[in-house]
Amino acid sequence: LKKQQSLYAHQQATTKDGHTIEVAANIACSVEADNAFAQGAEGIGLFRTEMLFMDRQQAPDEEEQFNHYCEVLTAANGKPVIIRTMDIGGDKPIDYLALPHENNPFLGYRAVRIYPQFLALFHTQLTAILRASVHGKAKIMIPMIQSIEEIRWVKQQLEIVKQQLTEQNIAFDADLQLGIMVEIPSVAFIVDLFCKEVDFFSIGSNDMTQYLLAVDRDNASVSKLYNSLAPAFLRLLKQVVTTAHAHGKWVGLCGELGADSKVLPLLVGAGLNEISMSAPKIAATKAQLTEINFADSQTLFAEACECATIEEVEALLEQRHAQAQ
Ligand code: PEP
Ligand code: MG
Repeated sequence: LKKQQSLYAHQQATTKDGHTIEVAANIACSVEADNAFAQGAEGIGLFRTEMLFMDRQQAPDEEEQFNHYCEVLTAANGKPVIIRTMDIGGDKPIDYLALPHENNPFLGYRAVRIYPQFLALFHTQLTAILRASVHGKAKIMIPMIQSIEEIRWVKQQLEIVKQQLTEQNIAFDADLQLGIMVEIPSVAFIVDLFCKEVDFFSIGSNDMTQYLLAVDRDNASVSKLYNSLAPAFLRLLKQVVTTAHAHGKWVGLCGELGADSKVLPLLVGAGLNEISMSAPKIAATKAQLTEINFADSQTLFAEACECATIEEVEALLEQRHAQAQ
């Protein structure tokens, strides 16, 4: 079976009825990028840059970041690379930032929320990404956005950095796209407003599930409640994709849910443009996509959105799976 799957690794993933979905990889460093493309990634859907900032004495400087981003863009060889700006703080502590201890880090001081205090750090990262952007197809994605104010502030900073580069005659991709993680429920209700601010969206199902259902993603005592098949989550997915598409915007998904073969027909049916996952899952996912019918998946997703319980959604998936065998 493994051998058969590898046949699909380097092909576009198209459903039986001709619907194409991008299959991309989540990475944390350039070594993983090489591996991801070797395993058939059509792009990088999530580059978790915070890994460059962790487990060290000080933040990587502009040159180090620039080189690292260039390595990833070179590995991508023209394929899109979504570089997520640092998602640090909260449960991802960084000693040299000396952030205060928090009782509730998942609801605390992390990601975009710390950028105003560490403005130089944020500007350095944006500068490094912009400079690297002439070496491939880079896109910038901001984590943990919950309001329009936040993304407008980010856009102002991006303009400041672009202006500085222009004044210094340093080249960057002027068309570089800006997107946000959709991982805080408030965003789902104002996707139409965000469509006026950004180019694309990527749903972070890990955090979105935790925040939507109020279940700590790392707490074993409530892990039974942590389930993205909750009808509320499916309806949120529907809301986000439908609204973004109505405004002509691209929507991906980059949480662990994307690698769950059982759930894949639902994600296809939801109409996502891209699914990003850990590299070892890519070949199998592409193989599975060729066995799926898009129109049937749309019906399945619509039915799942009408289910009252997780159990009903699971039963529906089992039933379809059995029928397909
Ligand atoms: C997510 O929240 O789904 C996500 C992809 O981001 P992270 O897992 O890095 O928080
Ligand atoms: Mg997240």
